[in-house]
Amino acid sequence: MSLQLKGAGGAPGIAIGRAFCFQAEPAPGMHAQIGERPDAAMERFTAAQAAAAARLNALAEQQRADGFEQEAGIFEFQALLVEDPALTGEVARLVREEGQPLDAALSAAVALVRASIAGIDDAYLRERAADVDAVGKEIRKALYGAGPSLAAVPAGAIVVAPDLTPAETAELRGGVAGFATAYGGATGHTAILARAMGIPAVVGLGADALAIADGTELILDGSESLLIAEPTPEQRAAYAQRASAESTLSQQRRLAFRDQAGRLADGHAVGVWANIGRPDEARAALDNGAEGVGLFRSEFLFLDRTAAPSEDEQFAAYRAALEIMAGRPVVIRTLDIGGDKPVPYIDMPREANPFLGVRGLRLCMRRPDLFATQLRALLRAAAHGDLWIMLPMVATLDDLRWGRAQLHAAADALAAEGVAHRADACLGIMIETPAAAVTADLLAREAAFFSIGSNDLTQYAMAADRGQADLATRYPHDSPAVLRLIAQAAEAAKRAGIPLGVCGELAGVPEAAVLLAGLGVNELSMAPAAIPIVKERLRQVSFEQAGEMAREAMQLLIRSNV
Ligand code: PEP
Ligand code: MG
Repeated sequence: MSLQLKGAGGAPGIAIGRAFCFQAEPAPGMHAQIGERPDAAMERFTAAQAAAAARLNALAEQQRADGFEQEAGIFEFQALLVEDPALTGEVARLVREEGQPLDAALSAAVALVRASIAGIDDAYLRERAADVDAVGKEIRKALYGAGPSLAAVPAGAIVVAPDLTPAETAELRGGVAGFATAYGGATGHTAILARAMGIPAVVGLGADALAIADGTELILDGSESLLIAEPTPEQRAAYAQRASAESTLSQQRRLAFRDQAGRLADGHAVGVWANIGRPDEARAALDNGAEGVGLFRSEFLFLDRTAAPSEDEQFAAYRAALEIMAGRPVVIRTLDIGGDKPVPYIDMPREANPFLGVRGLRLCMRRPDLFATQLRALLRAAAHGDLWIMLPMVATLDDLRWGRAQLHAAADALAAEGVAHRADACLGIMIETPAAAVTADLLAREAAFFSIGSNDLTQYAMAADRGQADLATRYPHDSPAVLRLIAQAAEAAKRAGIPLGVCGELAGVPEAAVLLAGLGVNELSMAPAAIPIVKERLRQVSFEQAGEMAREAMQLLIRSNV
């Protein structure tokens, strides 16, 4: 029987295909073999250790053959750690002396070894604690099998999962038709990545989505946040027709606006720029008519791999984006790791509230080595185009000043080494904490530009986790509270005479784009696919009308969708 589920948002587009149900990892305890003899359990464990070490050594060889020496070293280190006596001894003690099932013993032993390393007073060794977790996972895979891999999703399938991490989403290549998740919100990084990759998606469908069986026929309508399981023949025919009409219309819009500058009906200029996560996405940006890149989320270069990219690798990626954009501005945001973007090889403190913790610039303060490498790569790339450097998660003037001091130090070091770079690349900040928005007048004196991160600004202003679908729907990013904070930053930017952009998801929603233009925003940055439709909508209103609409929106105390 046909079943319809409504989600909290996602990425536009229609997908018709069969369900591929994906469960990332078995929960610890799922495989407990109650009553297994200790000898048999330890035999299984020893065999799994050998298999995991062999796999890690093979990965190391492959990395070395591909020229990734540093990554190869990480896998070799992990292969040694698999057979670490402390880990083996603790598993054996728990299984033999305490009679624990192997599964539970492994989890406890990994936690113990991790904690003992994390407590060592040596930054390098402390970082190795993350390797212990990775090793635990490898042994688990050897014990229970790897489970489904996203890289193996059949072409044309629709992935159905409880949730996907950004790294898992980045794995979705090769013709996957779309994905649907039970959890996650419209402004979470999984949905953002789906929009960037042009994959139709619906997130936040609720637990009912998890009852869908593998192979079920599905229709996914990302624009309406809808998932239909076992559609009727009429629904199937109607959606097939809509999918083809939508692709024709978007193609027409794309061509009509590709070479047109962003502007309002009266000619008031509003730049329409693109958000990207990898340099090659700059091609899609240009193809859709982007006038610049308003946000290059550099942390996406750090996901989906086993070690941080080197200075040279980063330099090549930033330079490639600048060269594709051929002289147009490219705003590259420095690392924004943490929150919902953990990176397995960067050891992060366990926090009760990661979004309020060591995230973005704060993580860079703890890891100045990572930050310095990135700043050097950025300054070197700046010699090849119009690069603007942007700091995320700024809450105080001190944050901005710290970032600037690091940038100067990186420039001095490059100069001393005689490395070609551009020392005077401009430094701006994201306005995504309420603290930054309300002190925008102070920050505007020292920042070269502002870009509003409406996704985080909303979650922090409304106290509503951006990854929780129901909260994000009830406390949306176009609330009067958020618009007023944006208006405050806009006023400060105007007084200081610095450019103001918006690079959160709000900028790519045509009706919201009009309000932002009315608040005096100079540039809107969005997923490339949204550019033509936003350009089209902007041309339908004058600056005065947009300003009036923005003033009205800031007075709306009750929203019609509640
Ligand atoms: C934002 O917070 O609006 C933003 C653009 O940054 P991110 O979504 O990557 O946190
Ligand atoms: Mg943000």
